[in-house]
Amino acid sequence: MPDSFVYLDHGATTPMLPEAIEAMTAQMATVGNASSLHTSGRLGRRVVEESRETIAQAMGARPSEVLFTSGGTESDNLAIKGTFWARRDADPRRVRLLVSTVEHHAVIDCVDFLEAHEGAKVTWLEVDRVGRVHPETVRAAIETDPDSVALVSVMWANNEVGTVQQIAEIVSVAHEFAIPVHSDAVQAVGQVEVDFAGSGLDLMSISGHKVGGPQGVGALLARRDATLVPLIHGGGQERQVRSGTLDVPAIRGYAVAMRHATDNLAAAAERLVTLRDRLIRGAQDGGFGIQVTGDWEPGDGIRRLPGNAHLLVPGCDGDSLLYLLDAAGVQCSTGSACQAGVPQPSHVLLAMGMPEQQARGALRLTLGHTSTAADVDAFLAALPAAVERAQRAQVAASTKQPS
Ligand code: PLP
Repeated sequence: MPDSFVYLDHGATTPMLPEAIEAMTAQMATVGNASSLHTSGRLGRRVVEESRETIAQAMGARPSEVLFTSGGTESDNLAIKGTFWARRDADPRRVRLLVSTVEHHAVIDCVDFLEAHEGAKVTWLEVDRVGRVHPETVRAAIETDPDSVALVSVMWANNEVGTVQQIAEIVSVAHEFAIPVHSDAVQAVGQVEVDFAGSGLDLMSISGHKVGGPQGVGALLARRDATLVPLIHGGGQERQVRSGTLDVPAIRGYAVAMRHATDNLAAAAERLVTLRDRLIRGAQDGGFGIQVTGDWEPGDGIRRLPGNAHLLVPGCDGDSLLYLLDAAGVQCSTGSACQAGVPQPSHVLLAMGMPEQQARGALRLTLGHTSTAADVDAFLAALPAAVERAQRAQVAASTKQPS
């Protein structure tokens, strides 16, 4: 690996903010289980409750609505399985899950599990060419049989192509039928305005390491009237819904990062939009016929995540490009990091109606708080040689005769 590298994969994880590292390490030097009754335990508890307040305030939620988890994946599982079981227990007709086709695997695989093992019926909500779910699609899916719906789940912003969904509109459709709505807001927080109460959502998943906090911590925001069957049983922490000793240092670091991310949101978003547009324009001007996917309009940071650039490079395999760019010191992704190494075109791009061959040339570049114009320019400088080599490799692979 080169001595220094350009990091354009903030969607996978973003570097921890120095102030979050400082707060977390200071906390690691102390003792105290937040459930213990003695002084050290009560001091730990105080840190947890202050952090809960900070995160609630940053998200437009009440402190009692914040349930700490190990991250976005666990929050998605708790929201979906927990609600499915609770709503089906209350009324056995409620077995249908309405879920968008462009969700992260933390949602899709959870729903697939419930379908395979728990008798769930899944109605996949289709998206348009930019990856957006239309509220009318949700209405039509509910209206086929409103009494059978356990939950609607639509992500706030897509992790691959950066499309931001119309969450408040989707919630208001579902609430006409008294159906709860969950949203995976893991990628949206710190990039676009996220207001839990304002959105009307019943449940929302968030994660620490996408906002400059530590990995392995996150939260599920759950309205007080949202009933959830716990997935983890034990000491009854977190409203009896998520047992396990709380990770006090990680929670403290997470809260510091959240406060920073939301206090600086407007300026950060504006800066990222400028960098993103420079990157997309530069790639398009390179003469390779590179296209941008999703909903891109220069200057817009509302309908597409400010830090997301997702490109289609013709005649290339995205994985080859990724490795060639990595060798040149530029780190990026082909889509969701969780799928890296699996040689299949992205389900998100296919759901958007893209032909499989085109979807194979996908490259995701995500910018964050440490990104600079020099990073973008280094990527643009490394791109032509990487594309030429990847295209040659593709031609060689397609003309190779079977032995
Ligand atoms: N949901 C989305 C949209 C994500 O992008 C990710 C991570 O990439 C997750 C869920 C999983 O979050 P975590 O890594 O905190 O488990």
